[in-house]
Amino acid sequence: MEIDTQFDLLIIGGGLVGASLACALADTSLKVAVVEKHVHSELNYGSYDDRSVALAYGTRVLFENIGLWSSISKNAEKISSIHISQRGRLGVAQLDHQQLGVAALGYVIENRLLGQALYRRLQAASNIKIISPALVTGITQENGQRLTAISLDNINRTIQSKLVIAADGAESSVRKWTVMETSEKDYQQTAIICNVTPEYPHNNIAYERFTDAGPLAFLPLPDFVAGEDAQSRCSVVWTVSPSQADSIMKLPDAEFLQQLQACFGLRLGTLQRTGQRTAYPLKLVQVKPGATERIALVGNAAHTLHPVAGQGFNLGVRDVMTLAELLLEAGLNGLDIGSQSILQRYQQARQRDYKRVIHSTDTLALLFTYRFKPVQLVRSAGMLLLDVIPGVSTMLARRAMGLSGRMPRLDYD
Ligand SMILES: Cc1cc2nc3c(=O)[nH]c(=O)nc-3n(C[C@H](O)[C@H](O)[C@H](O)COP(=O)(O)OP(=O)(O)OC[C@H]3O[C@@H](n4cnc5c(N)ncnc54)[C@H](O)[C@@H]3O)c2cc1C
Repeated sequence: MEIDTQFDLLIIGGGLVGASLACALADTSLKVAVVEKHVHSELNYGSYDDRSVALAYGTRVLFENIGLWSSISKNAEKISSIHISQRGRLGVAQLDHQQLGVAALGYVIENRLLGQALYRRLQAASNIKIISPALVTGITQENGQRLTAISLDNINRTIQSKLVIAADGAESSVRKWTVMETSEKDYQQTAIICNVTPEYPHNNIAYERFTDAGPLAFLPLPDFVAGEDAQSRCSVVWTVSPSQADSIMKLPDAEFLQQLQACFGLRLGTLQRTGQRTAYPLKLVQVKPGATERIALVGNAAHTLHPVAGQGFNLGVRDVMTLAELLLEAGLNGLDIGSQSILQRYQQARQRDYKRVIHSTDTLALLFTYRFKPVQLVRSAGMLLLDVIPGVSTMLARRAMGLSGRMPRLDYD
């Protein structure tokens, strides 16, 4: 593959977050390269496995701003209400889109279909070059440029850019190469994901059920249509201990469905079919703030969260839209897009959102697993409070929907 060696911006990683950043910069004056180690068109790696993602309402607004929502929404199912319960205890909370005056609380889409919409946009953009499969093997700095070494077709090449974006996921090599201070917490929990067909339609309700082992979510997916036949589907994220996960993963489908049913109950009738299961060990990864020269982190490279509140990708979308806004503004004003002042502004703009989302997700992930009596009472009271005082649930829902705080604009046309 013949490639240019000079770009304004080089994005390492073409997962959901790296590709979203490139989409936000599509058809602008910035010359952008996306380097992805897998064959990007196959969409069967990293972000694009069998998972589905719950998009917050605020994420819809951000994708609308860059003209992408219509191609995403045709494959997404809306969440009209969220039903929150706790296994074996009192207290059920219900949040509804009408309480908040929005069309939906969020949307659920299969990661691969979201990836298709993103890559279609990138392939149509004249200023974006996708370099894949190519592995980034190192980065250095010289004369105000970042030099990125890549291995493409087993040949080593070097690309120069004013700025490098690390969108290379939870195990980010860029973080290691630049010795950024990182903290990690192992939750000792594993998320098992799969799609199931329940007896009754989901009616656009998302269910979040807290159990002693961890949370269990059933998210509404678009129906599976085969000829005249349409089957309701839910995306399941079931969090259990690592040892439970080992045995659950080995169960035949029928026994797996029985155990899932025992945990979830009969809200959607009998669970009839399941798709393939995949297991994800869960951890929290945080990077200590501090701008590194000509490098910015986005998505899982900057923060890896527990999936309990479905916030990881949504937080990453707010990273990339904030960054894109700053870079385009700098470009319009003739400033150096890789300068320290722009990167510091980016860091400062993101810290509050990081603290809020990481703190609430971490608390939620752990609170419902404590077996200590007073904690159990507090959380039951919390569930009642949520349902009884409308202001509390509205405030929490607005946060979860990504609607609190300032929204990046990206309306430069
Ligand atoms: C079970 C589960 C459920 C989830 N549900 C939700 C949800 O409902 N809502 C939500 O908002 N979030 C959710 N998340 C979080 C979400 O999946 C992640 O935040 C998101 O996938 C992160 O994307 P990313 O692009 O930052 O990282 P990744 O998906 O890890 O992508 C990184 C990319 O970089 C590439 N790469 C890495 N190193 C190199 C290199 N050296 N050279 C070239 N390329 C490289 C990789 O191949 C990969 O494609 C969930 C997570 C889990 C585990």
